[in-house]
Amino acid sequence: MKKRRRLKKKIRNRLILAFGLLITLFILITLIKGIVGLFHSDNKTMNNEKITEEIKGSETLRKAGMSEEDIKEMTSLPNYHSNRAKRYAKWKAKSVKDIVMQVNCDMDLKPYSKTTIVDDDSDMTLLVNKFYALPEGYQPSDLVPLEDYACVQGEDYSCQTVEQIEMRKEAYDAYVKFCKVAAKNDINIRAIAGYRTYEYQKGLWDYYASVNGEEYADQYYARPGQSEHNSGLAVDITFNGYNFNEIENYDGYDWILKNMHKYGFILRYPEDKTDVTQYGYESWHIRYVGKEAATKIYKNNWTLEEYHGSK
Ligand SMILES: [Zn+2]
Repeated sequence: MKKRRRLKKKIRNRLILAFGLLITLFILITLIKGIVGLFHSDNKTMNNEKITEEIKGSETLRKAGMSEEDIKEMTSLPNYHSNRAKRYAKWKAKSVKDIVMQVNCDMDLKPYSKTTIVDDDSDMTLLVNKFYALPEGYQPSDLVPLEDYACVQGEDYSCQTVEQIEMRKEAYDAYVKFCKVAAKNDINIRAIAGYRTYEYQKGLWDYYASVNGEEYADQYYARPGQSEHNSGLAVDITFNGYNFNEIENYDGYDWILKNMHKYGFILRYPEDKTDVTQYGYESWHIRYVGKEAATKIYKNNWTLEEYHGSK
């Protein structure tokens, strides 16, 4: 009897020990999982969210009657945004690629029907157009007065302003470099307008809106915060004393078109891209975006909208 009791006790003790070990192991695993999860949970949720979004996007495209083949092509494009699926589904273009690019460029929207405020001005490729606006009262903090290569009133035919022309420092440095090289090729570039204040644009737009109506004002003047001149990264130019809005007809203009990207500038409103920019052709309005972006835009024959729309 004693032997049996001792054996029972032994078994019970072993069982308790095994059970205790199991619980300890369970607690340890849970703890480790929790700690690992702390570091990974964000990523996992983001991935899951992205997948859910993509599925939602595909569903929208399917409901709109798009073929499975097109859906597959569209959703695998690097510049496809699932939150724009509804707009992609509505928009008609030659190819799936074109649909995505054109909607990304807001070509499906009416001017000023959507406004995104551009808060970060550290990116030289920042977009200012009929859908992207600088904040109310925006003024760049690094404006520099243009000493050289600025027009002189009374001397230059196209000189519009007696005020000091200003640009943001990085754009200014690039502009001066560009003009120096151009001058060596007998192309004497002069700026006729640079930075314009938010208040200036507001005064202009408000005036024409009150006199001729908003539609008229929108047709000829950018809304406050939506003129590229407010960014301090745009400059209107002429050269060799020509009338600024005829420079495209003179020798030297071709050189400007082919070389300005090397200094970070692009022609902002090309003649063959008015449907993308939603602006008329402006041969004189150039915009600083930095060398890398300018080269990419030049080589792909893009506008700044398409540069952003390709992402
Ligand atoms: Zn301009």
